Amino acid sequence: MKSARILKPNEPLSFEEIETPKPQGEQILVRVSAAGVCHSDLHLWEGGYHGPQGTFMKAEDRGVKFPLIPGHEVAGKIESLGKDAHGFKRGDSVLVYPWVGEGSCPACKAGDENLCDKPKSLGVYQNGGYAEYIIVPSAKYLVKLNKLKESEAAPLACSGLTAYTAIKNSGAADGELLVIIGAGGLGMMAIQISKALAKPRVVVIDIDDKRLDEARKLGADFVVNSTKEDAVTAVKGLSEGLGADAVIDFVNSSKTSLSGISMLRRRGRLVLVGLFGGELQLNLALIPLRAFKIIGSYTGNYRDLVELVALAEKGAFKNVVSQTFKLNEANKALSELKGGRVLGRAIISP
Ligand code: NAD
Repeated sequence: MKSARILKPNEPLSFEEIETPKPQGEQILVRVSAAGVCHSDLHLWEGGYHGPQGTFMKAEDRGVKFPLIPGHEVAGKIESLGKDAHGFKRGDSVLVYPWVGEGSCPACKAGDENLCDKPKSLGVYQNGGYAEYIIVPSAKYLVKLNKLKESEAAPLACSGLTAYTAIKNSGAADGELLVIIGAGGLGMMAIQISKALAKPRVVVIDIDDKRLDEARKLGADFVVNSTKEDAVTAVKGLSEGLGADAVIDFVNSSKTSLSGISMLRRRGRLVLVGLFGGELQLNLALIPLRAFKIIGSYTGNYRDLVELVALAEKGAFKNVVSQTFKLNEANKALSELKGGRVLGRAIISP
């Protein structure tokens, strides 16, 4: 099958033909129709994440092995099933839940495989969807699609699901002031999902006016370009000087996390999602004095993906896919994302 693989960080993806895997046991082979291009694919391609004080945390030190087919936002049609796979048939249209765990840790037992102690996520620790086919370990990692097109559904597996879980973790309630930092693939889903789950007043912060215009169209009540005005002052100005009830930081860099915590009101919740990385120096006494909560949020569980797909099937929000690339354009897709030239989400369609 055709595939795009990361052989080494920062080198162009390689497009060699590799053997099409044959599903064994409970495994299912899915013919990929669409694979979303997530900023996390970019971090993998770059070999890891920025840590504190200029350090770099290598993905390989965290269990990632190259060569790797990236791509964890995958939808397609079932091509073939292992002899012990049940519940689906050839030709079914499916979304893949990629946040596979090893199965026996406390998180996996609670159904939160995305938080597994020894994760085996597809497109991160195992081959993903930048290919003609993907092997899925079991039918329990598939969600059946009905009306939803595969090209619209693919980004739900990460950008949609991560936004959905982050909003739940933020506890944003009706009438509260919710700040979303970063109007990229995740942020644009979060604006819409927050309005579908509750009715918070949503402020979106970004550094790019085009994204902020789009954010408004998707339901943001206020937008702030943090290169043109001070984001903390702007948010306080919208809340009689009190600050935001919740901030979800889809960038999570040294700069955005500091402004996120500085704009929280008493009892505020800061949800850190982005992997841009860096460090945050905390004024420790203020954390209890103001009863802040700082929450790390990583993707989401299978149950939440099923709920999210049901909402999408009902048309509760618009998909944010703006560009489609061929598989042999995977390098271009990643470069466009890196250059900030993708509005919302791009997908690769083999
Ligand atoms: P994206 O590239 O589509 O969007 C990033 C957005 O952030 C862009 O709109 C950009 O203009 C904006 N931005 C950049 N710097 C900024 C700043 N200083 N202030 C305000 N806005 C700024 O990325 P994405 O696919 O939405 O992913 C966002 C981040 O979330 C990435 O680091 C990605 O790896 C991470 N991520 C985390 C999880 C998780 O589960 N925690 C899941 C998926 C992605």
